Amino acid sequence: MAESTSIDCNLLVAKALARTGINHMFGVVGIPVTSLANRSVSLGIRFIAFHNEQSAGYAASAYGYLTGRPGILLTVSGPGCVHGLAGLSNATTNAWPMVMISGSCDQHDFGRGDFQELDQIAAVKPFVKMSVKAKHISEIPTSVFSVVDHAGSGRPGGCYLDIPSDVLHQTLTELEADKLLDDAERSRNLQPVRSVTNDEIGKAISLIRKAERPLIVFGKGAALARAEDEIKTLVEKTGIPFLPTPMGKGLLPDTHELAATAARSLAIGKCDVAVVVGARLNWLLHFGEPPKWSKDVKFILIDIDEGEIELRKPELGLVGDAKKILKVLNKEIKDDPFCFGQTHPWIEAITNKVKDNVSRMEGQLAKDVVPFNFLTPMRIIRDAIIGLGSPAPILVSEGANTMDVGRSVLVQMEPRTRLDAGTWGTMGVGLGYCIAAAVASPDRLVVAVEGDSGFGFSAMEVETLVRYQLPVVVIVFNNGGVYGGDRRNPEDITGPYKDDPAPTSFVPGAAYHLLIEAFGGKGYLVGTPDELKSALTESFSARKPAVINVTIDPYAGAESGRMQHKN
Ligand code: ADP
Repeated sequence: MAESTSIDCNLLVAKALARTGINHMFGVVGIPVTSLANRSVSLGIRFIAFHNEQSAGYAASAYGYLTGRPGILLTVSGPGCVHGLAGLSNATTNAWPMVMISGSCDQHDFGRGDFQELDQIAAVKPFVKMSVKAKHISEIPTSVFSVVDHAGSGRPGGCYLDIPSDVLHQTLTELEADKLLDDAERSRNLQPVRSVTNDEIGKAISLIRKAERPLIVFGKGAALARAEDEIKTLVEKTGIPFLPTPMGKGLLPDTHELAATAARSLAIGKCDVAVVVGARLNWLLHFGEPPKWSKDVKFILIDIDEGEIELRKPELGLVGDAKKILKVLNKEIKDDPFCFGQTHPWIEAITNKVKDNVSRMEGQLAKDVVPFNFLTPMRIIRDAIIGLGSPAPILVSEGANTMDVGRSVLVQMEPRTRLDAGTWGTMGVGLGYCIAAAVASPDRLVVAVEGDSGFGFSAMEVETLVRYQLPVVVIVFNNGGVYGGDRRNPEDITGPYKDDPAPTSFVPGAAYHLLIEAFGGKGYLVGTPDELKSALTESFSARKPAVINVTIDPYAGAESGRMQHKN
């Protein structure tokens, strides 16, 4: 019998990843993981190579959200692992599935000051659902399967796999490798998703039926569950208005007649029963407490995480997958249907408020203000995006004022087409998210609308856009700094460094559009409505990497955007 060929650990890791269905990886190569990236590519896994692990990590986290399968980040040891923590923590905080795989120093030299030495298992601890160190090549298949499975099960989040460099250099025969993979695959232990009882469903329906002012709220957990069809059925059969969270936007079109987004304060302030699907009652939803919510509101929380229900203590908690639960709920409602018609006082109140607020906003948006404020260019971008129709582009948004204004003005028509600073308010996610969106949804254009400060965190990744020729148009709202111009009181500008630029200021008129041209991409500098329209038309139809540098009045925005009370 011919002897089985020998394979190294890098190939075994790649084989295990490929078996789990992983087909993309994001990262930065170097000692000791370059071969791992190459082996993965040879097995059909696309490796997107970044300049910085932070952006690659943000990409992996967003990829997990968009595809529902863990995004994989590959980093080198020590500092590479530390840079990657940005993405890992972002994934866990957003409840998105992601796995970070880092090489680490040689086990025999640990504690002696080895190259890039770090106790990486300890470093990742606050940011992961679980972590594992493969101390020997034989542990690779089980370790890979368990991080991938844990990242996506229950409430999704970040997991970590540590592979010391000595392990990466170990070898075994192909026969041994296949046996290890088969054995590990057989013992994969996927956590079953709990199902709700008839009694719980009955209670939910009775609460909704008795409500006078019900509201359906949904968030990125509902998006992860791909529950859009079930939410649509629930909303349309019952006639209950809905409110998406920022990234829940698009599960139902923003233009839907029961969308309460433009009447948010009224909807949450006055509703008496709120069905909250895949959204935490955290800061984004004002903790579900007065003064924003009524003190008597009854919450029905639908969440895959039992801990979330225990934490919030709602009137009723339904633990499980949102799509499955809503399916059962809809089925039960069907037997004895009810519908709040358009003339119901609650629906009328919401609809009238929406109409008022929208027409006031449209009045503001209709003006062409030059030098640009935030509204004029946002309206032009909104119209250009709407003009693209379906498939709608994926919108990436960050920056205080740019994101705040964009959230109210830009229109989301399709599920999972909005990525923003999220639960953690993470700035710097822009280019990583763009790259993830482009590779996760190759049929869609990606449009980033971000402040110059947000863009700056990851601007070097415009080279990555050009290298992979990704259809991404990055629109930079350039107001010359974090929140724009220097707003300090002249009396406060004292001391030996008083002539330094303000901590909020960048170089005025920075030529961000030239950055991408350095690599062969297309850059535009625009300052008027016509210039912006023409740049959008050209770049949207080219579907090639582009940066549109939009000059904004440095004093148009507010310091800290809408969160001034926190600064
Ligand atoms: P948002 O920021 O949109 O308000 P959050 O990230 O705060 O949303 O909340 C998402 C919630 O969705 C989390 O509590 C998470 O446990 C939950 N979740 C994740 N996946 C599912 C799923 N498949 N079904 C139901 N809930 C889910």
